[in-house]
Amino acid sequence: MQLKDHSVQALREVFAARGVERWRADQVAGWLYARGVEEVAAMTDLSRELREELADSWEVRALEVEHEQHSVDGTLKAVLRAADGARVEAVAIPEEARNTVCLSTQVGCPLACSFCATGALGFTRNLSTAEIVDQLCRMRELCGPERPVTNLVFMGMGEPLLNLPAVLEAIRLFVHPKAFGLAPRRITVSTVGVVPKLGELLDVAPIHLAVSLHATTDAVRDSLVPLNRRFPLDVLLGELRRLDTVNRRRPVFFEYTLIAGVNDSLADARRLPALLRGIPAKLNLIPMNAHARSGLRPPDGARIDRFLRELAAGGLRVTLRRSRGPDIQAACGQLALHSGRDGGRSARGRLRV
Ligand code: SAH
Repeated sequence: MQLKDHSVQALREVFAARGVERWRADQVAGWLYARGVEEVAAMTDLSRELREELADSWEVRALEVEHEQHSVDGTLKAVLRAADGARVEAVAIPEEARNTVCLSTQVGCPLACSFCATGALGFTRNLSTAEIVDQLCRMRELCGPERPVTNLVFMGMGEPLLNLPAVLEAIRLFVHPKAFGLAPRRITVSTVGVVPKLGELLDVAPIHLAVSLHATTDAVRDSLVPLNRRFPLDVLLGELRRLDTVNRRRPVFFEYTLIAGVNDSLADARRLPALLRGIPAKLNLIPMNAHARSGLRPPDGARIDRFLRELAAGGLRVTLRRSRGPDIQAACGQLALHSGRDGGRSARGRLRV
């Protein structure tokens, strides 16, 4: 069994079923997550019996660092390897007052969005809770104590809402005071909008929601995000208007990857404020990062500016995401696994940071 597959609450139950006091789970979480100690022998306030049981029948680590790269702007990219050889990428993005870690939730992705390299990779498997949590453990070690991780974004490879049980259990560990103790508002989950799962995600904790919008009409969104055919814009946005948990929280971030000639017209910019009316929305514009798996390209700077100005005139809160780590291929859409096996196919993914 893998210790990091269990939230503190779940581990208490597992321990109880094995005749171990429930509160021992809180102690173990304190060592693993609050202190970052993974050596069971070093967990000195546990009974010798429990230490033996943990060492004999439990696993502690789910991911090892295979490769790390540092950008001149401080961005750190790591390729992390699971026990079965599957590999995922995580990125740490330091800014003045924060250090954000970007997490993957799946090896590959089944949703096949046309501008996304992970979509071109196809789907290998879901990550376990331990593999999601260990991305943070490894990145925290790589960043070192002088650069503590302050924020988490589920914006790496994969669709979090298609691996919801594992993602929820990981979030429970991220926010639990005995574990990582992160404030929920420091966690953002990004989704293309798997409508039936949104409510369950938002019930776990008052985290931030980011929705990958990318289009203002169903015709364009169908072509960019195939899942739109199942959950078209009015269904997705209707659900966001309906959910109390959306309206009670700080803004919903809408991500809009700007693609030349596809979704960057003035008509698009004019449609956006009306489309998002009634939702506490903030728009993040991300000029597309080109990659070999797609013929799509970002618009030029003048066109991006024009789009931004039109949005601002329409009264929408909007920010332009700047690229981080382009020199190490860690910027939006650039991160890619280049070799090795996972699930029998060569892996190529990308992370948006
Ligand atoms: N599946 C989830 C989580 C992955 S984060 C989701 O789609 O929301 C995915 C984000 O990466 C998307 O919002 C998209 O804006 C961004 N993205 C994907 N490919 C990109 C590219 N080539 N350039 C810029 N952003 C990209």
